[in-house]
Amino acid sequence: MKRILITGAAGFLGSHLCDKFIREGNEVIGMDNFLTGTEANISHLFKLKEFSFYHHDVTKFVHVPGQIDYILHFASPASPVDYLEMPIQTLKVGSLGTHNLLGLAKIKRARMLIASTSEIYGDPLVHPQRESYWGNVNPVGPRGVYDEAKRFQEAITMAYHNVHGVETRIARIFNTYGPRMRINDGRALPTFFSQAMSGQDLTVYGNGTQTRSFCYIDDMVEGIYKLLLSNYHLPVNLGNPDEVTILQVAKEILAITNSTSVIKKTKLPIDDPQMRQPDITLAKKELLWRPTVKRADGLMRTYSHLLSAF
Ligand code: NAD
Ligand code: UDP
Repeated sequence: MKRILITGAAGFLGSHLCDKFIREGNEVIGMDNFLTGTEANISHLFKLKEFSFYHHDVTKFVHVPGQIDYILHFASPASPVDYLEMPIQTLKVGSLGTHNLLGLAKIKRARMLIASTSEIYGDPLVHPQRESYWGNVNPVGPRGVYDEAKRFQEAITMAYHNVHGVETRIARIFNTYGPRMRINDGRALPTFFSQAMSGQDLTVYGNGTQTRSFCYIDDMVEGIYKLLLSNYHLPVNLGNPDEVTILQVAKEILAITNSTSVIKKTKLPIDDPQMRQPDITLAKKELLWRPTVKRADGLMRTYSHLLSAF
């Protein structure tokens, strides 16, 4: 049994990670300031003796009494709409927040995994993206606040590993979806579902030819779990290589929801990456991991969950 601190615990990925680590017989300490997360995502955990919770902003000094074996740092706005609204909080949680947690990992001799992102590749000039690609990021564009915070996060994590010998893991997470995404967080899939289910137009940005590769949450949680327990300290891509255009996924959501909504093409946001697909050769080799949930199945599961919540 390990004692694990999970930041961003009330968010989409963080809450599923709390469930996973408790299911595996561990004690979980959740930490969140509810900036973009919600108590509803973890309310089922409060009654468990294996779960405790700190309402805390990790950009402020982090204190947790007692031993900690693992730290998973997932606190950060993650939707482009969120981080464009909260650019300074986003920069601070990736930089100051990561620094605080690395300091905690150092004194507790804990292993720390950080939630990095495919956004560190920016609008990629190499396709698919493998870990050896350094990316194409505009530091002063609107998305720079997120991309550069995450690039700094990787850099300081490597520095703590190299200088202080902290055991670290770096997950480069590609677009992930599933139950508990905030319906109004502005990301493509929850937006399309809520529009389709309420009869509004589906807002496809640009001409919809930009691509993403969507990974179902259960696969992602398994990948993160395996990476944490592995011996590999360099960055690892985690995602589903099944690439699709945004227009295609909008059409799939219309079909799944049996909706009469129509697709309306609107302006493409600045610096929106044109294509994105993970090369997961490294994860397959080092973690013996690959995603197994097909998009049709994952979208259907997400829809069923939304129907019960609507
Ligand atoms: P989310 O918005 O659902 O969850 C983030 C959580 O962090 C929220 O509960 C929020 O309240 C909390 N938080 C933000 N700032 C905080 C602070 N200063 N102190 C304490 N808590 C704070 O987002 P998510 O999709 O679950 O993403 C979680 C992590 O995974 C993020 O670090 C994100 O960058 C990374 N990630 C997610 C995806 C994805 O597709 N979902 C892809 C790549 C990387
Ligand atoms: N997108 C869209 N309509 C929306 C929301 C997003 O067409 O209402 C597009 C967005 O421009 C991007 C893709 O869908 O090309 C994925 O966007 P998301 O916000 O989900 O994540 P990103 O991968 O850009 O961080």
